[in-house]
Amino acid sequence: MITVTDNLAEIKQKIKTAANKFCRDPQAITLLAVSKTKPCTDIITAYQAGQRQFGENYVKEGVTKINELKSSCPEAIWHYIGPLQSNKTKDVAEHFDWMHTVDRLKIAKRLNKQRLQGANPLQVCIQVNISGENSKSGINVEQLNELALEIDQLPNLTLRGIMAIPSQPGNKKKLKQEYIEIKHVFEALQQRHNAVDTLSIGMSQDLELAIESGSTMVRIGSAIFGSRN
Ligand SMILES: *Cc1c(COP(=O)(O)O)cnc(C)c1O
Repeated sequence: MITVTDNLAEIKQKIKTAANKFCRDPQAITLLAVSKTKPCTDIITAYQAGQRQFGENYVKEGVTKINELKSSCPEAIWHYIGPLQSNKTKDVAEHFDWMHTVDRLKIAKRLNKQRLQGANPLQVCIQVNISGENSKSGINVEQLNELALEIDQLPNLTLRGIMAIPSQPGNKKKLKQEYIEIKHVFEALQQRHNAVDTLSIGMSQDLELAIESGSTMVRIGSAIFGSRN
């Protein structure tokens, strides 16, 4: 039987191989294990194999797991990577370490206000809509700079970078175009903001292309935990 532990080892090897192929330092690419819909037992298995960064997509499910795993996975770092309605920001602000899908000032302001006193700042990425299609969430590239400047003014948030989801993951040509654009957008943002070091792109299917395109954080779910129903 193929286990979470085997899968993790295989993914880490893939990251290393891709990094070497594109002359990048494998250490500069963080593996985020996306555990959405998967049970806590799988997360514990990954944790025991050394995995520390975990991503969740649903607020309620994420908070339940974070609370449940406090003692068994004390060093786990939790990333919120799902869409977020403004009436659910409090749970993210209070329980997660990172938030990848900030796409408007209203959400950023609420997270800033709701972050608990004495906690480290919430580490945030702005979700960018690279395809320009209305249906996708994420801010348009033209509005990115303004939002980034506004987030810099919020003391309980630290802007770490940008996150993107490809518009048509199955379309290799389009995917490549989008990733080239996002790489440029990221590099330009990095020039203007000291703390920006994170480009959150790449999932199970497009890991190699994401690493070629400068990803510093790949979000891998099914290739670690198995397919979701
Ligand atoms: C589910 C999800 C992932 C992981 O996708 P896989 O194809 O299972 O690797 C990554 N990022 C986001 C935003 C997701 O929702």
